[in-house]
Formats: sequence, structure tokens, C-alpha cells
Amino acid sequence: TVRTRFAPSPTGLLHIGNARAALFNFLYARHHGGKFLLRVEDTDRERSTQHAVDVLFDGLAWMGITPDEEPVFQSTRQARHAEIAHHLLTQGLAYRCYCTQEELQQMREQAMAEGKPPRYNGYWRDRDPSEAPPGAPYTVRIRAPREGEAVIQDLVQGDVRVANAEMDDMIILRADGTPVYQLAVVVDDHDMDITHVIRGDDHLTNTFRQAMIYRAMGWDLPKFAHLPLIHGPDGAKLSKRHGAQSVVEFRDMGYLPEALNNYLLRLGWGHGDAEILSRDEQIHLFDLDGVGRSPSRMDYAKLSHLNGVWLRQADDARLTDDVLQRLAGREGVTVDDTLRTRILTLMPGLKERAKTLVELADSAAFLGRHVPLAFDAKAEKLLSDDARVMLGKLARDLAVLAEFDAPSIDAALRHFAENHGHKLGQVAQPLRAAMTGGATSPGIDATLAALGRDEVMARLGAVAR
Ligand code: GLU
Repeated sequence: TVRTRFAPSPTGLLHIGNARAALFNFLYARHHGGKFLLRVEDTDRERSTQHAVDVLFDGLAWMGITPDEEPVFQSTRQARHAEIAHHLLTQGLAYRCYCTQEELQQMREQAMAEGKPPRYNGYWRDRDPSEAPPGAPYTVRIRAPREGEAVIQDLVQGDVRVANAEMDDMIILRADGTPVYQLAVVVDDHDMDITHVIRGDDHLTNTFRQAMIYRAMGWDLPKFAHLPLIHGPDGAKLSKRHGAQSVVEFRDMGYLPEALNNYLLRLGWGHGDAEILSRDEQIHLFDLDGVGRSPSRMDYAKLSHLNGVWLRQADDARLTDDVLQRLAGREGVTVDDTLRTRILTLMPGLKERAKTLVELADSAAFLGRHVPLAFDAKAEKLLSDDARVMLGKLARDLAVLAEFDAPSIDAALRHFAENHGHKLGQVAQPLRAAMTGGATSPGIDATLAALGRDEVMARLGAVAR
């Protein structure tokens, strides 16, 4: 059965490139009825703080990408990694290297002077350790093949080859006895029975180094799929200057996890012209043959568009809760049950026009403000002296409406406009200004109904002449 894994190094931010790798691993496992695992590569104790791990777990939970087994923390497995290094040593598949830093530096300089890449020259590969000074520190290096070539049959990139002469005898155990990253990854993937390693193609050279360890141990290699990276809209490596790049940033900017998931999936994977895909559809359709080979370009406008689509499909109560959280602490806005009811009532209209939850919160804020409202320039203009006189008359009609719901309000406004020889817009626009402090809102009838009669009267009273 298929077993995939996401193996992030906790850095205090979940990059969308990594989030996409996680998503692909998750979907691949689900599609094939397998398991998706999480391994936290926390061997860099400086960076891997509890905070960094929390950010990672929060981000994944928010994305709905949850592992099927308990997460594995790589730092707890160092003894096992070292055990494998010693096994290779006793088998003669690895050897002790006593070179000092100075000697290694000399070796690199000499190689460069000869126009060669700075590689270890295998000095201790066939030397007797007794030649080393007694008690001298040593690293353990793998005995790499020198002839022939290594081939990785990558499920996305196809066959990738490297001549073995290109690779040196890499260190697998440092002088202080700690295992290197490449060894840890291989031992963990093997022990976790990982069948498919799906990760960014920046790891392709690592894969050749890791393959040496698999081969030395006589272990089956997992299948590899190296994903092209996400680039910025201009084709350069995605960076801060392009805009947001971490999952938390997108959440704060008001994107729904469904939209970010949907967008990241479509970025570099396609199935016909299917654009909006639910999680179930994603699982049903996802496979690696739909992954493209060229880098994808981040398209922020397209993400916003998708987010708008997902917003309109989202549950009103959920959106209301999110908006209330975003409004909490905003100056002049009272966040309470009354506001909750108002937002929930108006949500069908509000969500039609928003692309993000931030826009949604901005457009709902007026519901929690109090008289006297602040008016923007457009509203000021709409609230002319004549308009204020008209609104005074309208207030008297609305005060006596039998039912204060959208259909009754709509009928009353039409009736009022007709009676006074106005077009509906000539009534609705100043009224909207008086209610919202601006010039845009959902339908005026729904807006008034959401505010409720008392608040409508208060807001009209504040402007009417
Ligand atoms: N820890 C590595 C990273 O975050 C990923 C290793 C892997 O997927 O094999 O880049």
C-alpha cells in the first residue's frame, strides 16, 4: 500500500511551496487508499523551536492536511541513524576519514586550481586507520561508487542521470558522532515504510546522495516525484517582493483554506479544464501524471478569483464567525450578539461582492457602528439638504411599517418613490449613505432589514431634516 510523507523542517513559517508538497502527498495517499505521514525534521535545534513546530501544525490543520499516524520527530531518532552509519562502517561500505579542516580546505583549493569542482579526493578511502594519529577525531564517509552512472526514475521528471564520478564520498556521521541530514532522511523514510517521496525539485541532487545510502544498505528505493517549484509572476524564484508566501499570511489576508488548497492544486497540476474542485473531487482525480514539468507561476489575481468563488459557496454562519473575529477590536465597532445577527442576516448579500474575508469584514463593519456615523465623500455628497428632507419623510413611512422585513421594506420604498415622483435610486442612494456611511452595500431592502427598525430609525434621525 502507498505510504507518503511530508517532511518539513520547522522554520516558523509554512511556505506555500511546502504546503503544496504536503497537499500532493496527502492527495496521492488518499487517491490510492494509502496513508499520509508527517515527519518533523527538527534536527536543527536552533531553528526548530516549539513555536516553529506550532506554526507548522496550525498551518497544516488549517489547510485540512492531517497525517494518518502520529508525527515522527526526527531529532528523537539520532541513535538509530548513527547505528546505520556504524553498520555501514563494519561492512566496509563506509570508512573513517581523519582529514582535518585544514587538509580538507587544501584539497578544495587544489581541486579548484585544477579547474575541478571542490570535492573530497578519497584520501582515507583505502588507507589503514592505523596511519592516523592515535585518538584523532574522524568522520564517517560512505564508499561511493566511482564508475558508471546513477539513474533515478522520477515520476514527474522522467529518468534523471548523474555520472558516479560526479559524486564524492559524502560524510554520513560528523566528527561529533551526529548523523547528517541525508542519512537521517533515508533511515527515516525506510523505517516509516515510505513508498513515494514527493517533494520539491530542489531536492533532486540530494536524491542521488540518498540513493547511495539505500544501495549500500541493500534497501529498496522509494519512488520519487520531484515537483517543479513555484515561481513569482515574473518567473523569478518566489520571494517577499512578489507578495505573500506563507500559509499564515494568506489566512490573515482573508483567504479560505479551500481556496488556497484549490489554487495550490491547480498550480502545476491539471485535469482537463476542471477549475473548482472539492476535496473529494481532488482525491478522486489526483495522480502524479497530471503534474507538469515546468515551474509554475504564482498568480495572485487568480487566487483571489478562486477565493471569491469559494466564499460564495461557504456557509454563512462560518463566514459570520470569521468576520466577527476580524472586527473585534476595530475602533467604533461593537462586536456582540446583535452584530452577529445583523451580519448573518446580510451575509448572502455581503458575500456576493467580496473576494477575501478582509473585504467581507470591511463591508460588514457598518453594521456594528453607532450614530453619528462618519460619512465618506460620496456619502456626504448623496446627503444633500434635499435628500435629508426626503429621508425625514421616508422615516415617517418606515416607522409605521407593519413588518420590517426585506419584502415589506422594498414595497414601502417603491411606494414612497412613486408618491414623491422619485426614481427608486434617488431614494435608495441617500438612504444607503445614511445607513452605511458610504455608497455601497447589498440591496437596500436587505440592508435595512438586517439593521432592524430601531437602528434604521436612529440612523435616519441623525441625518433627517
Ligand atoms: N526537510 C526538507 C525540507 O523541508 C524536506 C525533506 C524531504 O522532503 O525529503 O526541505
